Amino acid sequence: MKYSGHQTFLRMTGAMAAVLMILAVLFPSASLVHAAGSQKSLKEIQSELASVRADRDQLADQKDKLSGDLAYLQKRSQAQREVYENALAQKEAALMVLEMNQEAAVIAQADYEEKLVQYEERVVRMYEWNRYSMIELLLSAESLQGFFTTIRFMKMIADSDEEALAELETASILAEQLREEAEDQYSEMIELVEEADQAMQAIRAEEGLAAQALNKIAQSLEITRQKEAQLVRDEKAATAPPVTSGSPYWVGTRQFIWPLPTAHYVTSVFGWREKYGRYHYGTDVAAAMNTPIVAMADGVITYSGWPGTAYHWAYGKMVVIDHGGGYQTRYGHLNGFNCYIGQRVKAGQVIGYTGNTGRSSGPHLHFEIRVNGVPKDPLGYFRRAR
Ligand SMILES: [Zn+2]
Repeated sequence: MKYSGHQTFLRMTGAMAAVLMILAVLFPSASLVHAAGSQKSLKEIQSELASVRADRDQLADQKDKLSGDLAYLQKRSQAQREVYENALAQKEAALMVLEMNQEAAVIAQADYEEKLVQYEERVVRMYEWNRYSMIELLLSAESLQGFFTTIRFMKMIADSDEEALAELETASILAEQLREEAEDQYSEMIELVEEADQAMQAIRAEEGLAAQALNKIAQSLEITRQKEAQLVRDEKAATAPPVTSGSPYWVGTRQFIWPLPTAHYVTSVFGWREKYGRYHYGTDVAAAMNTPIVAMADGVITYSGWPGTAYHWAYGKMVVIDHGGGYQTRYGHLNGFNCYIGQRVKAGQVIGYTGNTGRSSGPHLHFEIRVNGVPKDPLGYFRRAR
């Protein structure tokens, strides 16, 4: 149901140009209105298509690049999360060390202070003793030996007190140093965690932006692809031969009315199609979208709809009419219907409108005449007018 080749197309554009020129001379304003209308020329469609395809390629490239960026950022984000969690664990460990050292420093300080109080009490007592003169001490002593013992004892106590005090002070200072070191380490860990967190947030923000950009590009790409698909359809429709073209021109006979009162240009005949490797069971007639289709003879509508399982999908929306006497006609690729199954129709009655459904590369009518189920060449039932 593809339209005939290149030569026909050239001939058609030539014919179309001639018609347009004549129209321009006869109805200059009418032709202007037509040119400004919704109908785009093939050339316009093709140039638009080329630009849309360039856009599409560019968008596809951008999408690929952004997908790569996003994948990289996701990997980096994962790695940074591990760094952050590692820093967090280190921070916890540092906090434990700090707490232990804090406790140790408090204990060491308390020990030292306790000893210091004891020492001070003794110093005060010795001072009191010193207020007595050696003679007084000597006189108060019960014996000379007792006197010396008291002196030596006092000295021993003072020396050992001083030593112990010095040791405790050193221990307390050391504990305080350790505590300070642990505190510094903990502060460093807090900073490390903060840095890791900031780096992670930054990567995540980048990741979010990249995902957003990717989403936008994907949307644009989808829209561009839809535009492209529409232009491809437009291009196909535009390359279809114009329906008003002259020869060959087919009209009905007594038995069958021509199915398209306003279109008579046959684009594909009955028979083997070398190009597509299949048999063509009907006749194709070029017709603009929604051209009225009429029943070729009196009959009953036996089918109206998509082929479903009843007929081949390639027909697209179709109508089948039983005319009695073993005669059946089929109409394919419709855009709309004007009949229902079981309806009795008269020859020439509008049953539907042409379209581009099923296996079709542009709006046209495919119609068949079957006798006892066997497809016949439909043109055998019509007359060539010129
Ligand atoms: Zn066909």
